[in-house]
Amino acid sequence: MYMKSFYVGDCPICCGMLEIVISINGKNFSIMCDECSAEWENPEDALNNRGGSRASANEIEVRTATLDEIKIANWDIYIV
Ligand SMILES: [Zn+2]
Repeated sequence: MYMKSFYVGDCPICCGMLEIVISINGKNFSIMCDECSAEWENPEDALNNRGGSRASANEIEVRTATLDEIKIANWDIYIV
C-alpha cells in the first residue's frame, strides 16, 4: 500500500524535507528529515533547529504517520 508522507517544512540542516513520523508502537510522534534523518521532538523545534538529534542517536524505530494519527497529535496545522 502506498503511504503518503506529510511534511512540516524544509530541514534547517540540509536540503531535505521534515516528515511527520510516529514510533512503531504508535505512542510517540516526532519530526524527521527525509534526507539527513536528523530528528526533533516536535514541529516547532524542527523548524527552529532547537535540540534534535542526529540519525545515529535515534534509538526508536519510526514509520510514516497517517493523517488520522497526525490529527490526534494536533499536528495537522503544521502540514505544508
Ligand atoms: Zn536534513
